[in-house]
Amino acid sequence: MLANQPYWNPVLETADPERLRALQLKKFKKIFRWAYDQSRFHRALYDRAGIGPEDIRNREDIRHVPKVEKSMMRDIQRKDPFPYGDALCVPLEAVTAFRQTSGTTGQPVYQADTWQDWEWWAECWAFILWAQGYRPSDRVFIPFGYNIFVAFWAGHYAAEKIGCEVVPGGVLDTQARILKIQELKATAMMATPTYVLGMADTAIRKMGIDPSGLGIKKITCAGEPGASIPATKKRMQNAWNARVFDHAGATEIGAWSFECEAQPGGMHVNDAFFLVEIEDMETGEIIDEPGRRGKMIITALDRFAQPCVRFDAKDIIEWDTATCACGRTFRLIKGGVVGRADDITKVKGVLLAPSAIEEVVRSIDGLGDEYEVIVDKLGDVDRIKLKVELQSGQEDRVKAIEGQLKDRLRLKTNLGYRIEFYDYGRLPRYDVKARRFKDMRKH
Ligand SMILES: [Zn+2]
Repeated sequence: MLANQPYWNPVLETADPERLRALQLKKFKKIFRWAYDQSRFHRALYDRAGIGPEDIRNREDIRHVPKVEKSMMRDIQRKDPFPYGDALCVPLEAVTAFRQTSGTTGQPVYQADTWQDWEWWAECWAFILWAQGYRPSDRVFIPFGYNIFVAFWAGHYAAEKIGCEVVPGGVLDTQARILKIQELKATAMMATPTYVLGMADTAIRKMGIDPSGLGIKKITCAGEPGASIPATKKRMQNAWNARVFDHAGATEIGAWSFECEAQPGGMHVNDAFFLVEIEDMETGEIIDEPGRRGKMIITALDRFAQPCVRFDAKDIIEWDTATCACGRTFRLIKGGVVGRADDITKVKGVLLAPSAIEEVVRSIDGLGDEYEVIVDKLGDVDRIKLKVELQSGQEDRVKAIEGQLKDRLRLKTNLGYRIEFYDYGRLPRYDVKARRFKDMRKH
């Protein structure tokens, strides 16, 4: 492997789009037949819909294959074969890894992988890291808890696979992690956006260390959309003096997308390993053209123990028209994952995506990174409260900041907010994924 080669897999990453589409159809037929033949859960689902492996002749036929909802996976869990249930397509002896989803939207889902599946996870991540400029000369620090959540596990294996030196940050606390980065002169790091900002804050306020001088040059984010939210990306890049890249993946799916070094304002889908479809949320129709947002339906084309076939991922995405300067032919989604179908809520009859509020808060100088949004009702009327932190030394600017905040929020979200200011450090901090949006109307 030549370090100056721009692609991890030049054949797949620059393949003609028609060839990629043909490859996707071929692989879809294979994984669909596999799921139908090996899993009682999948066969029952497809038999009920009157569709079988013989019925898939072209890409349009794929659209008739029933979707799998997360709730279905929860329903079969803990049944035989324990604890995965009958979507499992291999004998239990073949399973080598257990992971579970974080459960932010309900009961966690358990996920089985074989060693072959795990190798595939690492291969997916190898595409990501190479595209973001990771090379064998990098020393990669991974400040992650190495637990039952998949998070950066595959990033760890992939970094080793492509030849980087990997430092597992494991159970060290934040200060010990920062000291280790400093001592070892680590050059790259992987973490959630919340933690990337949290580490910088700890370094500055508790340790008197400026993270921008630590020598981290690349940061790969996952778990939250922050690295695709321009204002959050900018804060992370400034704090660390590093390039920050986004990646989206999920336990039940795999590592399906990544931002490349050209940073075209969106992420590539790994079209060689995944089939991504976008579904109109009102009509259910599949959207092929750029510029229309919808819900992602995704198939992991090479994952066999517990397959992911037309999984309803609830991520909101849209195709981009642009081709990328990096030369990859993998399709682009504009602005990354722009929201979650679960998170988008109606307030005063207006659709609100929490990421829009984050973009505004973090675009304003004088405010801290943390914020909290609380939606409740007074009588029949919805109200939104936004709590923000004022950076020290900004007390004289409160009125100006409040005016700026309200104007930008109204422009971006078409809603009015009550703003509450707090001293720096008073709002809750989160270690991994943050819960900053609270809808009290549901209680
Ligand atoms: Zn690119």
